[in-house]
Amino acid sequence: MAAEYVEAAKAAGLAEIGFSEHLPMPQRDDRSLTMAADELPIYVEEVLSLRDKHPEISIKLGIEADYFPGHEEWLAETLRSYPFDYVLGSVHFIGDWGFDDSRNLAEWRRQEPERVFDAYYQLVAKAVGSGLFDVLAHPDLVKKFGFMPAKDQTANYRMIAQALVRHDTAVEISSAGLRKPIGEIYPSAPFLKELSAAGVRFTFGSDAHRPREVGSAFPDLLQLLTECGGGVLVGFRGRLAEDLTRVSGSD
Ligand SMILES: [Zn+2]
Repeated sequence: MAAEYVEAAKAAGLAEIGFSEHLPMPQRDDRSLTMAADELPIYVEEVLSLRDKHPEISIKLGIEADYFPGHEEWLAETLRSYPFDYVLGSVHFIGDWGFDDSRNLAEWRRQEPERVFDAYYQLVAKAVGSGLFDVLAHPDLVKKFGFMPAKDQTANYRMIAQALVRHDTAVEISSAGLRKPIGEIYPSAPFLKELSAAGVRFTFGSDAHRPREVGSAFPDLLQLLTECGGGVLVGFRGRLAEDLTRVSGSD
C-alpha cells in the first residue's frame, strides 16, 4: 500500500516523500481517524523497509500528532520511542468537538465562527508552544467547511507566526485545502504573508490519502508562497531541520 505512494512520488518527479500517518490517540480512540495503537510499530517498520528498498528517492518517516492540552508528557514519550524524521503537529479538536469532521458539521451551525476561530488559534499557539512538533500542519484547518468569521484574523495570524519563530517550528503549506469545501490552500494568502514576514520556515505537503494525490498542486503552493513574500523551505532528518532552498518573493 505505502509502496504505491513511493511509485507516485517518483512518477511525479519528487526528490523526496514523507509519510505522516496519524498517531493513535488514546484520548480519542477512533479507528476512522487514526491507526490502532498496535499498528504504529508496523507502520514504522513498513516505511523503514521502503527506505531500504528505494535508495533512488529520499523517504522520510514522519507522523502527524494531534495536540491535546494535558497530554504533553504522554506525547513526548511516544514520539521518543520511534526514529521519526519529523513530527507534524495539528489541532482537529476544540474540546470534544472534532470540528473538521464532516460527521460533526451540525455543530458548526450552533457555533459563532469568530469564537471557534479564536479558540482554535489559542490551541494552535499552545501546540506550537509545547515544543513537541517540528512542523505545524494545515495551520488554518478551521476554515475547512467555509464557516468564516466576520472579524479580521490578522491578530491570530501574528500570534501564531510569533509562536512559530520563538519555538523554531516550521509550517506546512498544504494543497489538501484545495480538495475541501473551502477550496483554498492551507494557509490562506493573508496568513501566509504574516508567516513570511515573520521569517517562519516552510514545508510543502499534499496530505495525500490516495497515491494520485501525492505532490498535488505543488506548483500552486510555490506560486502562492512567491506571491506572499517567499521564504525558506526545509526538510527534516532525525527531527533536525535542514534548509533546502529559498523561495524569493515576487515584490
Ligand atoms: Zn491533519
